[in-house]
Amino acid sequence: MLKKLFKSFRTPIRRGNTSHSTPQVLNSSQHPIERGEISRYAISVVERLQQAGYQTYLVGGCVRDLLLDLDPKDFDVATSATPEQVRAEFRNARVIGRRFKLVHVHFGREIIEVATFRANHPEGEEDENSNLSSRNESGRILRDNVYGSLEDDAQRRDFTINALYYDPSTERILDYANGVHDIRNHLIRLIGDPTQRYQEDPVRMLRAVRFAAKLDFDIEKHSAAPIYKLAPLLGEIPAARLFDEVLKLFLAGYAIYTYELLVDYGLFGQLFPASAEALKNNPDYTDLLIRNALDNTDQRIHQGKTVTPAFLLAALLWPALPARVIKLQDRGMPPIPAMQEAAHELISEQCQRIAVPKRFTMPIREIWDMQERLPRRSGKRADTLLENPRFRAGYDFLLLRESAGEETGGLGDWWTRYQDISDSERRTMIRDLSNKDEAPGAPRKRKRSNSKRKRGPASDTPGSAADE
Ligand code: ATP
Ligand code: MG
Repeated sequence: MLKKLFKSFRTPIRRGNTSHSTPQVLNSSQHPIERGEISRYAISVVERLQQAGYQTYLVGGCVRDLLLDLDPKDFDVATSATPEQVRAEFRNARVIGRRFKLVHVHFGREIIEVATFRANHPEGEEDENSNLSSRNESGRILRDNVYGSLEDDAQRRDFTINALYYDPSTERILDYANGVHDIRNHLIRLIGDPTQRYQEDPVRMLRAVRFAAKLDFDIEKHSAAPIYKLAPLLGEIPAARLFDEVLKLFLAGYAIYTYELLVDYGLFGQLFPASAEALKNNPDYTDLLIRNALDNTDQRIHQGKTVTPAFLLAALLWPALPARVIKLQDRGMPPIPAMQEAAHELISEQCQRIAVPKRFTMPIREIWDMQERLPRRSGKRADTLLENPRFRAGYDFLLLRESAGEETGGLGDWWTRYQDISDSERRTMIRDLSNKDEAPGAPRKRKRSNSKRKRGPASDTPGSAADE
């Protein structure tokens, strides 16, 4: 990964001057970034603002990723122009955000994000109701709209590796926080006092983990130390912001490693309390199911395939269902309503932590409902299921459950075969089912019986509740 970086750096960069007013400057022969690797829209935004007299740079993830020979996800611009001044320069620009105001400049589907240089706001000098700056009692910054100089801006960025500024006109990099040194040493290091910086914005703990997983860097020890203790501060973060972060954490192609770090740092339970509980109560099954789901996601992302967050969320929450189903059944609720109610409760609770939009919660329910229906295949049911738009997700989910050791009586194999064969062979498979009557994973014939059945969620996986 660093091959290109080391080949191209001709001058050794020493970790030295910590004074933030004098950056280390790398000219074009001292770093590997080439203008051709940068979005032309990003360059045009920078040049336009520079021509209008504003100091302007590319900053953040794009500079970091280009130094590491990775494809930047997006290009962020930092400038001395205020949001209103930026908007005035472009026809296609919109000011967005309240907590953190910035400008989106649109070029078709590409958006260049332009932020005005920010300054740290001294504690105690802000006002709860101020539009510019405010904090709550635990030090969290509620609004961050105090503008400052380039030097100020560098100090309020999260990690040293994210505080590098690249000027496409001179092709120079300005490094105010020894970010290049940390890139070379594979370190995620917060700028400033770690505890204070996490208190200001607890999401930085998630970002530390995300970058550690994505870049395969270590979190530097002082930046790592307070995370476990401060993890509960995530409870203060608005659920909608956490949902966005969760998607970034799990959809970047490094979800398994991210998950391991989240668990190690005590962050996973803050995001998915019910799943963390299931990890405690049924560790092997829960861990394997989650890992298999994340592995699947990572592979699809690396193959350039689409991933639906609903499938992933359905998997993360599934191991938390049985305990709830059992509780409801113990209160006398029959298995299927208990399953429905447990699913409803679990999703509502989860949404209080992480605001999962309806367009994802609906398919989660559908994927789970499908688990109840997949064992019922007699008559025309199997063919009806095959035509259901959620069949594929439901079937994949069944295979995922089996991969984690759930016993379904060979239901996954049955469906795999059924999809592959001709109509007449399908009829035979269905006939075989009714001949066997109690075929593996098959529904029982409806018989009125008073005898209490011993199946259901007590058998410790939610799907088994479903095949009653
Ligand atoms: P990527 O886009 O690859 O996820 P990034 O580092 O560009 O990574 P963004 O969320 O796009 O991350 O943010 C752009 C830059 O803004 C960051 O590099 C960092 O300098 C700054 N930044 C973002 N979020 C925070 C934060 N919570 N606290 C301080 N600085 C932040
Ligand atoms: Mg970015």
